[in-house]
Amino acid sequence: MLLIDGSEGEGGGQIVRSSLSLALMTGTPVRIDNIRAKRTKPGLMRQHLTAVLAAAELGRAELKGAALGSSRLTFVPKQKVEGGNFKFRIGTAGSTMLVLQTVLPPLLLAREPSQIILEGGTHNPLAPPFEFVQRSFAPLIAKMGATIDLKLIRPGFFPAGGGRCEVSIKPATSLGPLTLLERGKLQSQHARAMVANLPLKIAERECLRVTQSLNWEARCGHAGAWEQSHSPGNALFAELEFEHVTEVCSALGERGKPADHVADEVVAAVTRYFSTDAPVGEYLADQLLLPLGLGAHFGTGGGAFRTGPLSEHSLTHINLLQQFLHINIETKDAGGGSVIVEVQR
Ligand code: ATP
Repeated sequence: MLLIDGSEGEGGGQIVRSSLSLALMTGTPVRIDNIRAKRTKPGLMRQHLTAVLAAAELGRAELKGAALGSSRLTFVPKQKVEGGNFKFRIGTAGSTMLVLQTVLPPLLLAREPSQIILEGGTHNPLAPPFEFVQRSFAPLIAKMGATIDLKLIRPGFFPAGGGRCEVSIKPATSLGPLTLLERGKLQSQHARAMVANLPLKIAERECLRVTQSLNWEARCGHAGAWEQSHSPGNALFAELEFEHVTEVCSALGERGKPADHVADEVVAAVTRYFSTDAPVGEYLADQLLLPLGLGAHFGTGGGAFRTGPLSEHSLTHINLLQQFLHINIETKDAGGGSVIVEVQR
C-alpha cells in the first residue's frame, strides 16, 4: 500500500484527487493521511467526497474513511477502469470540474468511450471554470490523442449549485507526446462576461472595463446571459487564443463585489500571463502534469512545456506523480521568468 501524506507541499484537495486518479490507473492501493491539512477546514469536503465515490465507482474500489470531514482515506481499486455512462451529483455547489479532473484520466485511457453527466457548481472560486476545461485544457488533450467534448447545460454557482454539464470522452490507447514551448501567433483575444438571473448591464460594465484597461477594441467584448440557471451568478473570461495554446483567465462575481473588481481581477490575470512569453499559464501547468506523466509512464508520451514560475500546486503535483509513476520530471530555467518542465520515462 502506498502511503501519501496529504499535508505535504500545497496540502489541499488536489493531492486527494490526483492520488485517486493515479491509484486507479496503476492499480495501486493507497492510503492518504492528513487530508487537506493545510486548509482552515481540513478533511474531505462534499466535493472531495464526491470525487472519492466517483473514483471508487470506476474502479470498484474498497474504501475506508470515505466520510465528510475524514482526514484519512484508504482506497483499494479492484478492477481496471472501463468506460460507460456515469452520473455524478455533488449535491452542493462543489465544483463539478474538480470531480471531472479526478475521473477523466482513467477514462481517457479506457477501452470504451464514456458519457458523463455532472451536477453541482460549474463556476467555482479556486477551481477551473467550465470554459477553462473546454477551451484551454481539452484541446491539448486532443493533441495527445483523446477527445473530450463538453456541453454546459446550465451553470451552477455558490451557494445554490444546480449546474449541469455533459462530457463525452473518446479515449486513446495511449496518450501521445506533447511539446509546448511557444505560444505561436496570437489569433484572437476577447472578453466574455456572462450573467445568470442578474441584469445584463453588469456584464456590459465588465466588458467595457476589461477592454478599456487592456486597450482592446470595444468589439472584443461580448456580454451575454445564461438562461435556465437555478440561481444568480456572474462570470467573466478573457480568452487569449494563440496558434499552439489558448489561455482562459477568469473571475467570478459575488454579492457585494462591484463589477469593476471582477473586471480588474481578469485584467490582472491577463497582465500576469503577458508578463512572460511562456505558453502555459499557472493553472494549466498543474493540470497538464498528470496527463503528461501518464503518457510517459504507459507509453511513448510525456514531453515538455514552458511555463512561468511553478506554483506550489505544480511542485506538489510533481512530487506526487513521481511517487506513483516512477517517471523523471525535470525543471530548468528558460530565462525571462520562465521554466521548462520535462516529463520523461
Ligand atoms: P482545497 O483543498 O484548497 O479546498 P480544492 O480541492 O478546491 O482545494 P485545490 O487543491 O486548490 O482544490 O486545486 C484547485 C485546482 O483548480 C488546481 O488544479 C488549479 O489549477 C485549478 N484552478 C484554480 N483556479 C483556477 C482558475 N481560475 N482557472 C483554471 N484553473 C483553476
